[in-house]
Amino acid sequence: MARRIVICGGGSAGGVLAARLSEDPANNVTLVEAGPDYPTAEETAPEVLDANRIGFTTHDWGYASSDGVREADGVPTFGVVEQGVVPVLRGKVIGGCSSVNGANALRPTPEDFARWTGLGHDRWSWDQVLPYLKKLEDDPAGGDLHGTGGPVRITRFTEDDGMRPVGSAFLEACAQAGHPVHEDVNGADRRGAGPLPLNRKDGVRQSTAIAYLAPARDRDNLTVLGERTVDRVEFTDDGTARAVLLTDGTRLEGDLIVLAAGSIGSPSILMRSGIGPGRLLDELSIPVVRSVEGVGRNLRDHSMVYVTYAVDEDAVGEITPPLQTVLAFPSGGAGSAGEVDLHAVVLTPEPGVLLVPLVLYRPYSLGSMEITSRDPDAAPHIRLGLFDHPDDLHRMVSGIREVRKIMESGPLQKYVRAETWPGPDVTSDADLVRAVLQGKNTCCHAVGTCVMGGEGTPGAVVDQSGKVHGVEGLYVIDASIMPDIPAEPTNTTVMMMAERAADELRGRA
Ligand SMILES: Cc1cc2nc3c(=O)[nH]c(=O)nc-3n(C[C@H](O)[C@H](O)[C@H](O)COP(=O)(O)OP(=O)(O)OC[C@H]3O[C@@H](n4cnc5c(N)ncnc54)[C@H](O)[C@@H]3O)c2cc1C
Repeated sequence: MARRIVICGGGSAGGVLAARLSEDPANNVTLVEAGPDYPTAEETAPEVLDANRIGFTTHDWGYASSDGVREADGVPTFGVVEQGVVPVLRGKVIGGCSSVNGANALRPTPEDFARWTGLGHDRWSWDQVLPYLKKLEDDPAGGDLHGTGGPVRITRFTEDDGMRPVGSAFLEACAQAGHPVHEDVNGADRRGAGPLPLNRKDGVRQSTAIAYLAPARDRDNLTVLGERTVDRVEFTDDGTARAVLLTDGTRLEGDLIVLAAGSIGSPSILMRSGIGPGRLLDELSIPVVRSVEGVGRNLRDHSMVYVTYAVDEDAVGEITPPLQTVLAFPSGGAGSAGEVDLHAVVLTPEPGVLLVPLVLYRPYSLGSMEITSRDPDAAPHIRLGLFDHPDDLHRMVSGIREVRKIMESGPLQKYVRAETWPGPDVTSDADLVRAVLQGKNTCCHAVGTCVMGGEGTPGAVVDQSGKVHGVEGLYVIDASIMPDIPAEPTNTTVMMMAERAADELRGRA
């Protein structure tokens, strides 16, 4: 009989897992997704399909962080649903966050995995992950570091091919400020500026729904259930996961159950299933299967502010595609030997406005989340903890100064009229810190809430393969198991982890 696999959550990880595991006819895969299922590109909502649409909330869980932001005049409102609130955007749709994200396809770096192995995760070295980073991509850059022919098409707008003049001017300004400029910022040298690798093809966002699931749809051993929400996992008395219970009362039996519901969804399902902090489970009268303090803890996210400019509409011209170039730099400045901890991109959200999302990619702040009820429809309590660590604040202040130097330099003078946030009068350290606390936002890259670690390690939820400690037949494979946040956007890392886990679960690793 075929092995019955139930995957909970059809996002970046879930889409990859369902497609790869159903390649094997010995598996019978059911993928459960709370949001709508769009089986083909033609049936997909236009904003989900269109890679130029960034920051929409039509397919979102509607969560917010309890990190307060002070309401203040002039704070950028891009991506902000409600004033004074930091949104925790989470895609609720087939493809998950990969269906709503910015399609920024920067890959994790060898240094990221050196940190993972340094924490004791010896199976996550760069040499072990690179084959899977290559397997998932179809990157015309080619060479030893890139894959060609994988499901996810990578596109770069270059000066010879589609880059808008303001993007070229940004790269020139970065070079003048002492930053190296490369054609391939996913290549061997990750420091500096260049065309941003994007997972888009002919204007279509290459989500896992499009890149992985769509070509697998005609398989008899793959069932996708859209608009169905997982409540919890059911265990036998000896602690083996045997079924998934949906909120509509459906019970799906499985020989293998994989949670891929993301950094908020997966710990929520675990907690409702009786695996989580004992105090919380007792408070919510959830029978304890296993008390694990780490479920919902260890949350790390990339914090961000939008340095904002009024620009000459005519000079900028066409504003789409809105995202084309990136600068990765150390907060110590262009000449510093320090690690790359900041990225700036140039975003043209509407005529006359240019945003520079400045993102802290090596945050020291920690957040957490927990469910507030046994009711799967109740929103969890999330605290991202953005800028709680003073070093995060100070490095962001240095980053704003570097962005100003670049944006005020000669190559961009033709475009930039004035800085509109934080504003030219905000110059002292104290004023800049205040501005960051008013304008703080998240890049929506939360990880770590079901963190991997050796059995018995305090807080560890899963082992290095994603198997949940202390029970049988249950895995978590998604952003929540990362032991540390990569210093890059997280989608490619999640897809790589799912590619690798699928091989392991097929006994091929
Ligand atoms: C607005 C936004 C922009 C981003 N931009 C970028 C970017 O440009 N580049 C980049 O690399 N990263 C980006 N990210 C981050 C990246 O997309 C995520 O880190 C990654 O997609 C997470 O993958 P995942 O599989 O862990 O979770 P998800 O992709 O979130 O998948 C989880 C899935 O599980 C479903 N689910 C949750 N709970 C349940 C339940 N109880 N029952 C059934 N289904 C459930 C969800 O609906 C979702 O489809 C962005 C994220 C957001 C939100």
